Amino acid sequence: MTEVRVRFAPSPTGYLHIGGLRTALYDYLFAKNKKGKYILRIEDTDQSRFVDDSIENLLKSLEWAGVNHDEGVFLEDGEIVEKGEYGPYIQSKRLSIYKEYVEKLLDSGDAYYCFCDKDRLERLREEQKEKNLMLGYDGHCRNLSKEEVEKRIESGEDYVIRLRFPENEDIKFTDIIRGEIVVNTKDLDDQVLLKSDGFPTYHLAVIVDDYLMKISHVVRGEEWLPSAPKHAYLYKAFGWEAPIFVHLPTVLNSEKKKLSKRHGDVAVEDFKAKGYLPEALTNYLALVGWSPESNEEFFNMDELIEEFSFERVSRTGGVFDINKLNWINAHYIREKDLDELTALAIPVLLEHEEITNDDIKNRYDWIKALVAILKERVSTINEIPEKLESILDNDVKYETKEAEEVLKESEIDKLLEAFKEELSQIEEIDEEFAKSILKKIQKKTGIKGKNLFMPIRIALTGNQHGPDLDKIILVLGKANILKRIEKLGI
Ligand code: GLU
Repeated sequence: MTEVRVRFAPSPTGYLHIGGLRTALYDYLFAKNKKGKYILRIEDTDQSRFVDDSIENLLKSLEWAGVNHDEGVFLEDGEIVEKGEYGPYIQSKRLSIYKEYVEKLLDSGDAYYCFCDKDRLERLREEQKEKNLMLGYDGHCRNLSKEEVEKRIESGEDYVIRLRFPENEDIKFTDIIRGEIVVNTKDLDDQVLLKSDGFPTYHLAVIVDDYLMKISHVVRGEEWLPSAPKHAYLYKAFGWEAPIFVHLPTVLNSEKKKLSKRHGDVAVEDFKAKGYLPEALTNYLALVGWSPESNEEFFNMDELIEEFSFERVSRTGGVFDINKLNWINAHYIREKDLDELTALAIPVLLEHEEITNDDIKNRYDWIKALVAILKERVSTINEIPEKLESILDNDVKYETKEAEEVLKESEIDKLLEAFKEELSQIEEIDEEFAKSILKKIQKKTGIKGKNLFMPIRIALTGNQHGPDLDKIILVLGKANILKRIEKLGI
């Protein structure tokens, strides 16, 4: 088999859509699974849609997500650079290549000059609408003589170049997900290939580039399926073998409509800003449209690479379920290395003024302990400050009647007296104090085991279960603990 080469070919329109990230992810997984190459190409031939900095933005989002390409356009030290032997990988730098190839189609008669101006095309459209006819170009310029064409070009008339479809021919191609597709050229419009400004349309550029970049599989959203017959025909007109097509089902919202900006967050950077972990987002996105053979739902990137195949991508749209993403994100937060998680939580805690820069320098263990407690309770990093506030609320509520009973029947007064005494000897609780305090109270009171830690836990948190008591003690700190003890009248 020839080398697998796939490409993600976004247009730089401002941000990376979550559906785009899924396409990129499938490209990446498939390429790695087949030991092939994954290429990133920028499709910027529609200059009216171009937004400043969007290439940088796209590249940053892909890098954050860990969906890394082998070839194409990269960001290095803030500079856009290109790597690979099939460049340039930015379409606006390839204009002369498209011209060269469109000439070939003109020579073979598979393309023609069209001088119809906007007014004529608009009138045509109106007429077709009125008569309930199929909308599309009527072939007005299909048969202009060579002389006439030359004359009109010389006189400075604007023109486009259109593909000349045969009148009545079936175009066949196979899509891995949808099987064989047949479309008759009767139902296709003579597609513009080169615009009057000299820029190619998407259809010309994508074919020329996929061919020259030796792309083996064209993987993209199903919104491009209606264009695929045109593309299949163009390959034939050029005399090239077409790549394998893979049109992915659309990512839908809970109302089964296309996920769009109007309905909330769709940009990858929004998910980053909200405190989702890249490994959770990619794990979740892989499952939107693809299903593994097992019932397993948690996959790291290597496992996804191992398991992924287009055969298990569904034909119907995948629904983006934020609750499931939250559930998966919570799992990855719980599993994350504590120092790494603390590093992610620090900016959010700083922003909410829950910690200071001094705390980072002098009380890192305290921050780490609070992250250790909170990681069990949040589904995004951004929920950490809010959950912290609830932990630091000294108005302790008993979780259950049973907790209250246990506390009542214990020797809590004795325990907390001893606790208070120990606290009076220090300025603030540090890790060492938190770790040794229970032993000290045990020594002082002679109370051991469950009778020792359970009442203290309930007195401090209201709960019979929860994170390690030493972590709770460290996180609460001296002042909060004293307040809680006082509240119990001790
Ligand atoms: N540039 C197209 C887009 O923005 C990509 C289509 C394709 O992959 O062929 O979605």
